[in-house]
Amino acid sequence: MTESRLGAILTQRFDRLVWTTLAAYAVLVVLAFALVSEIGLRRSLEQSADGIESLLGLYVEPGAAPTTVAPAMLADQLLGMGDRFMITRTVSTGDAVGGPSVYFLSPTMPAKRIETGAEIGSTPDDVRRTLLQSIAERGRWRFHVLHRRAGEFDIYVAGSRGPYLFALLGLSLGALVLLPVAALAARRGANRTVARALTPLGRVVAETQDIGPRDLSRRVGVPTGLAEVTGLADAINMMIDRVESSHQALEAFTADASHELRTPLTHLRAQVQWALAEGRSAEEIAEALAATGREVDRMSRMVEDLLLIARGENRQLAIERQPFDLAQVVREVEEITADMAAGEDITVRAELDGPLQAIGDPARTRQILLNLAANAVRYTKRGSITFTFAREAQMAGVHVTDTGEGIAPELCTRIFDRFYRVESSRSRAHGGGGLGLTIAQLLAKLQDGRIDVTSEPGQGSTFSLWLPAAELEGR
Ligand code: ADP
Repeated sequence: MTESRLGAILTQRFDRLVWTTLAAYAVLVVLAFALVSEIGLRRSLEQSADGIESLLGLYVEPGAAPTTVAPAMLADQLLGMGDRFMITRTVSTGDAVGGPSVYFLSPTMPAKRIETGAEIGSTPDDVRRTLLQSIAERGRWRFHVLHRRAGEFDIYVAGSRGPYLFALLGLSLGALVLLPVAALAARRGANRTVARALTPLGRVVAETQDIGPRDLSRRVGVPTGLAEVTGLADAINMMIDRVESSHQALEAFTADASHELRTPLTHLRAQVQWALAEGRSAEEIAEALAATGREVDRMSRMVEDLLLIARGENRQLAIERQPFDLAQVVREVEEITADMAAGEDITVRAELDGPLQAIGDPARTRQILLNLAANAVRYTKRGSITFTFAREAQMAGVHVTDTGEGIAPELCTRIFDRFYRVESSRSRAHGGGGLGLTIAQLLAKLQDGRIDVTSEPGQGSTFSLWLPAAELEGR
């Protein structure tokens, strides 16, 4: 599928918009001009008719008593009248033919009677209709005729549309010529603006393409000059941040894992070589094989732990989410801890104040508490290991408190790191691989919980497992 280019789409849309807008504007201007001109023409005819009507008011029958009129007034009337006009008069009596007759009023009075073709004596209405019809035939478009009746007079004023039709033609031609020119200029402007607006986007694309797996520390340059593109660049940079940190974590994990596996492998090789040396007794060889077996056990435990961490971090571990009785899990763990501590100067007890329901996976919770308890046994010479319940907001907690060697405050967060041991040789001597707390914290987080630690060197430590509470009784 060929994809459209943003620049092309924007320019095309803008082009279409400019064309329609300009064309609509031109049509509107021409229409408005025609409308205003027509209204002007009609008003001018009305004015002329007004002038003629008021002059007719001054008309006096020949022989009647004369009235006076000021010359200035006549001049005003004349100037207010810019159109061709004609007056007829309908006289109803004193005619040879009978009924009313229509006369055309000319400067040379008396007036002339108007005849409509062969039918002499037609009614005044016939005369009017015939007159208007003849005018209309001569130029419906070029003229507008106003007809007004003023008593026995009929006023006809004709105005020509010629001047404004001519101007209208000029205006339309101008629009026709200027429209493509304006549209072309607008298109060039739009092209340039769109190209300029898209430059930062192109730069962000190029810079992002330049960032390879080897230079994940590089970032896309911000600000880009365009807020939206800067937003995109920021999002890309944040994504590279995440990729970089997971890449670093993966590298660290690979380095740690290969380092941790190398030591037992060296041991194994040494033991095998020792056993293979000449002159070893059957007992010595059996002892070496037993030691080799223990080392292989430890290695497979470590590999299993690593697999568990990898699956957990990739969210591939099946974790149940159901209400369960924490007390039951704690009692099981207490029993196993007591077995682990058998023969040591350690008292193991659970002081549970009532039932406590949590939401999560009972088997994983058991695994977490066993890890914490095994550490407590491992790092406590004498004293006690106590399990107690705790409640906090929406969380249910189990404290595992020992009276062991404790942990320096600055190390309390590091002990959750992969392969981290406070005293490497001692921990290994106890059988610790440095993954126990990492797994415990991971399993807690997968159940939407967490593990906290408070500790005082030489006094002991309390590791607390917090899980979402199913219900908090007594609250
Ligand atoms: P390990 O297998 O070495 O015990 P963990 O991840 O379980 O690995 O623990 C990391 C380190 O934290 C241990 O090496 C130990 O130094 C310290 N630690 C863990 N639990 C306790 C505890 N209850 N008392 C004192 N130190 C502890």
